[in-house]
Amino acid sequence: MAKKNITDSCSFCGRSKDDVNLLIAGFNAHICDSCIDQAYLILKEELQGHDNLTDFNSAKLMKPVEIKSHLDEYVIGQDAAKRMLSVAVYNHYKRLTQPENKKFADVEIEKSNMIVVGETGTGKTLLARTIARILHVPFAIVDATVLTEAGYVGEDVESILSKLLQAADFDVKAAERGIIFIDELDKIARKSDNPSITRDVSGEGVQQALLKLLEGTIVNVPPQGGRKHPEQKMIQVDTKNILFIAGGAFDGIERKIGSRLKANMLGYGAKKETGQIDKKNLLQYITPGDLKSYGLIPEIVGRLPIVTFLNPLDEEALKRILTEPKNALVKQYAKLFDMDNIQLDFQESAVDFVVEKALVSKIGARGLRSIMEAIMSDAMFEIPSEKSIKMLKVDRKYAEEKLDQNKGNKQKVA
Ligand code: ADP
Repeated sequence: MAKKNITDSCSFCGRSKDDVNLLIAGFNAHICDSCIDQAYLILKEELQGHDNLTDFNSAKLMKPVEIKSHLDEYVIGQDAAKRMLSVAVYNHYKRLTQPENKKFADVEIEKSNMIVVGETGTGKTLLARTIARILHVPFAIVDATVLTEAGYVGEDVESILSKLLQAADFDVKAAERGIIFIDELDKIARKSDNPSITRDVSGEGVQQALLKLLEGTIVNVPPQGGRKHPEQKMIQVDTKNILFIAGGAFDGIERKIGSRLKANMLGYGAKKETGQIDKKNLLQYITPGDLKSYGLIPEIVGRLPIVTFLNPLDEEALKRILTEPKNALVKQYAKLFDMDNIQLDFQESAVDFVVEKALVSKIGARGLRSIMEAIMSDAMFEIPSEKSIKMLKVDRKYAEEKLDQNKGNKQKVA
């Protein structure tokens, strides 16, 4: 029998060169494309089986002070929230990697899910996103307003986990340690403080459904999200170790905080409570009780035990946001121009102008980007083709003119 030429066949499956798409030669051996695919799958499974804690452990070692100083690189101000968030995240990951501890064997550390309350555009999402980036864990943002109770039009709560799975590249183990940011939690608040007999589809039902996820349960998740349907193959995800951070503006909650504080001041033991109250920023006094009276069911409040707040952004904060963070907008434009060998001189007077405009729009730092875009778009279109220009100076006058010219965009800014 003629001996098979080993240079022409896969050393793993034995298939010949003609039967495969690709054959890669190694030292004394060959491997075909389908064996590479197979080997890759085996490798992936094995690594997942090992609970890939390596990445995770290095992140775990970060202490709250370090976490906060990383946050400081991207998020301006909001010190109180940063401190609470750093501790919550630190404790969360401590809980996940806790070694055997005989002294506290019976003590179970609970999850540190949290609620961040603050006006729109003050950095709620940015904080959560930055935390996930620092810790190298999968991160998903979901909007509570699209969720509905099973059986109604909208997305099932399980779709939250589909997003996290997608972010984790369907690595279930990684997803099970991820962070989910639930935005606009205030929009699913019960409309009145009294638990009603008739169910409130948009609010309370969704809160009830969310509760299961927050508590920690094994959920059948439709990989592509949306609605579940019977033929779909589900992936099982355990939510026990997923960190949930919820955010919301909770418009009008200041009134509730205010009246509670007032009642405290008038009530029994009032003398001790009459310390100075900063009436301009009542959010700093927020308590879980206020969230309950806003319309969150007590169980949800109980499952999101850490409550923190973000300050409204004043002129000074907006100025710093434009120029200081690692990826501050002014730095981003400077980088873009630098790629065309053009130096951008964005002067302080122009920064002041952008901030003035953003303050009028009342959408926090969200307005900054569109204002900057309206100011810079002409230059970004024209200047790269003009070889003679090596520098672009943007001062208040230039910024005013450009924003004025781009009236169409200006409408969008407001
Ligand atoms: P929200 O509070 O509505 O979730 P975001 O976190 O999405 O607001 O903020 C919107 C944008 O404004 C972010 O992309 C970020 O660039 C900017 N921003 C908001 N707050 C801050 C802040 N405190 N520091 C730096 N940038 C901020």
